Amino acid sequence: MAVNTDPDGPVRRDDERGCDPDDVAVKSFFLGPQAENADWFRAVFEHIVETYLEWRRRIHADDGRAISVADRAMPQFVEKRRVFRSLVHELLQRFEREVPKFSPRYIGHMFSETSMPAMVGHVVTLLHNPNNVSGESSRVGVQLEEEAVGELVQMLGFADGCARGHFTSGGTVANFEAMTRARHRLDRFIALGAEAKSAKGWGGSLFEAAHMGWQSYDELCDELDGDRDSSQFELLSHNPFEVAARLNSVFAEPYRGPVVLVPDHKHYSWVKGVELLGLGREAFWSVDLDHRGVMSIEHLGERIEEARRKGRPVLMVVSVAGTTELGAFDPVAGVQDLLDRYAVEQNIHIYHHVDAAYGGFFAANICGESPGCIMEDGVCDAVGAIHRANSVTLDPHKLGYVPYSSGAFLAADEREYFSNSVDAPYVAFDPDSDRGPQTIEGSRSAAGAVATWLTARTIGLDADGYGRILRRTLVARRRVQQALQSVDVPVRVIPPSSNILAFYVAHDGESLSAVNRRTQEIYEAFSPATDAEFYVSKTALRFSEYEAMLQPLVESWDGQRDDRELIVIRLCLMNPFIVSRETKTDFPGEFARAVADVVG
Ligand SMILES: *Cc1c(COP(=O)(O)O)cnc(C)c1O
Repeated sequence: MAVNTDPDGPVRRDDERGCDPDDVAVKSFFLGPQAENADWFRAVFEHIVETYLEWRRRIHADDGRAISVADRAMPQFVEKRRVFRSLVHELLQRFEREVPKFSPRYIGHMFSETSMPAMVGHVVTLLHNPNNVSGESSRVGVQLEEEAVGELVQMLGFADGCARGHFTSGGTVANFEAMTRARHRLDRFIALGAEAKSAKGWGGSLFEAAHMGWQSYDELCDELDGDRDSSQFELLSHNPFEVAARLNSVFAEPYRGPVVLVPDHKHYSWVKGVELLGLGREAFWSVDLDHRGVMSIEHLGERIEEARRKGRPVLMVVSVAGTTELGAFDPVAGVQDLLDRYAVEQNIHIYHHVDAAYGGFFAANICGESPGCIMEDGVCDAVGAIHRANSVTLDPHKLGYVPYSSGAFLAADEREYFSNSVDAPYVAFDPDSDRGPQTIEGSRSAAGAVATWLTARTIGLDADGYGRILRRTLVARRRVQQALQSVDVPVRVIPPSSNILAFYVAHDGESLSAVNRRTQEIYEAFSPATDAEFYVSKTALRFSEYEAMLQPLVESWDGQRDDRELIVIRLCLMNPFIVSRETKTDFPGEFARAVADVVG
């Protein structure tokens, strides 16, 4: 394996001699900004169309033709085709106004070029249109989904055989999938604890019941001889207010529902989730961020203790691997260490979900202590610990270079994965392979799974495949950072963790509101609403959330704190061609000059 140990990327070489192995990986998997791989692309699509047409003709070929040559020659028929063709043309024209996501000049949100294998997987699936709700409506699609899940499970290093999962429309739904499972688990633990307490005088508190863990759960089930029914205490089976009243009397303390512990840089999907579960926003307990803008383990510990004091079970702890705003990594390993100590020392088992929607694919590039590792501190540790959590969210439609919609939910333990099954009598479900009873969504396209399957099998979810692509994005982030810091304006960056770069321009002594106004101007000059040379995104970092990180930054330029937030330009440097020595344009340099022009 030829790991590129030069953090600045491949050494310049003559074009005629062909490129570096790292470049080959990138150049052979993408169409290219100028459609350089057009011949290949066209040939693949011709092959797809021909094979598909042949397949249709072979199926029940003796049935005869429904649309005759004479039909197709009728004037009305010809007219319909003309209308159709002109509308297709209109559609193509209209989409030319779409944001050119494939261009290395698009450096805004979490999307860029999609890989060729992913596009092909998506299109082939579209032609067959399987519904992965069950094997009845998808013979091949469900198998491919299972295999694609297997690829992700292996990339993250989950123990063989136990992990289960499925594809979702995205990270938001995958996060909801985690919440429903955590809630079913909590419901069963509390109900059994209540039953054991009322029937046998079990000595635990409500908090202890809620976090008893599966081993105690099984032991308590055995003790209750199976002839007791704890369902009267299940909030999910009965009127929750009546159940809460029963729990109040059994535990002799008021039951006020669980809390969800999420770091303060939360993705808005968690707020939606808490509302959807009907917990009330009050149940959303945020955990402070430290000076690097990631979850403080110390404060997490304090919040767990606060929950215990107040008799509020912890539905789940969420840590984020690759935050949406800054691409930062919460200390996933440290969070799990803390929760493991609760489990071992106090038999308190707390559900841990890792929202790795953005950053999970960096697991393809874990290179441990190797000197070639170019990931920032803490990223390897965080992604390397994801498999220790209860469940994880991944978005192939972000750093997997797969088209929308493709998200994935994975649970480490099949018992927890299957905990929320429901029945639908009109669909024949095979409990082992069909995901329908376990998914929040009903009908599900197989396209996101198959796109992931083909791209994972072609490129490889390891250091030689995706690892290469992601390393290049890290190189791109460094180049852009260097370029911005070498122009003649005081560009300041938020210390980056991965391939997201956030920056602003601030002169010494300037007020925060003036800095924010300037950032707003930069954004307007490069917003996707205009036809600018580059496309960026922005975000606002609030002091109420990022205090520990922002205060030292403001001090670094002697700024006056006259605003409640710092607005930053946010670049997702995902495009694989931002640093290409063959292109005429030096994208990092040109972007930096364009920023300087706007500011100047
Ligand atoms: C993008 C993202 C989500 C939501 O994913 P969608 O695919 O947009 O639904 C959730 N969490 C994080 C950290 C994300 O980056």
